[in-house]
Amino acid sequence: MGLDAEHRGVVMGRLTVTAVPVLNDNYVWLITDPDSGETAAVDPSPTEPVLEAVAAQGLRLTQVLNTHWHPDHTGGNRGIKAAIGCTIIAPAEAERVSKVDRVVSEGDRVTVAGAEAVVWDIPAHTAGHIAFYFENEGMIFVGDTMFAMGCGRLFEGTAEQMYSNMQRIADLPGDVRIYCGHEYTLANARFAAHVEPENEEVTRRLKQAFAEREAGQITLPTTVAEERATNPFVRAKNSQDFAELRTAKDSFR
Ligand code: ZN
Ligand code: FE
Repeated sequence: MGLDAEHRGVVMGRLTVTAVPVLNDNYVWLITDPDSGETAAVDPSPTEPVLEAVAAQGLRLTQVLNTHWHPDHTGGNRGIKAAIGCTIIAPAEAERVSKVDRVVSEGDRVTVAGAEAVVWDIPAHTAGHIAFYFENEGMIFVGDTMFAMGCGRLFEGTAEQMYSNMQRIADLPGDVRIYCGHEYTLANARFAAHVEPENEEVTRRLKQAFAEREAGQITLPTTVAEERATNPFVRAKNSQDFAELRTAKDSFR
């Protein structure tokens, strides 16, 4: 869909991250060491487009990282493992969908091509949802917990939990890049502009997201600083305020 290489591949730290757009609006993130080609796929589903992207770029996929059990994030596990064999690292809840080689939770460390990530437990979208924070690379993979200018639905948790997840992510350094599981930015920006019509940063970002989507571009990753300035769920005053916003968003058109 006409995505230029520059926009899809963002280099920071030592590793490169590229998007494989799949299903309606999911992104599978490929974390690659450009020197060795060693790659981890975050939330691969389905199998084929991920294997095709890996082959087309000549990468060596050795690991799968899952943020939560939902099939649009784990549905490729089985097929990828069967095709090329790889280590699946995931929260225990992902075992509903496929075998997991290493179950991880809060404080566990995961290494991708020599770069270390720490696992965070961030329940609410699902009860076992996790994030992978690569501190030295300045990036975090948050699945369906935070989106650009938005947040995930509360399927298996509370507004209090999700609000504290927002605060935890927003407390990271401002230049940390946030890799989300879906392309929801434009719809989220419209809601943000409805909630904060006077916020010029929101207005600017709504225009930008519109232009990027018109051009067939990916709007991610976002950054912690951008979310602090424009994400109404991050900017909520407290968990009660957050809960009201989350309910309003559920029915916003
Ligand atoms: Zn999900
Ligand atoms: Fe999802």
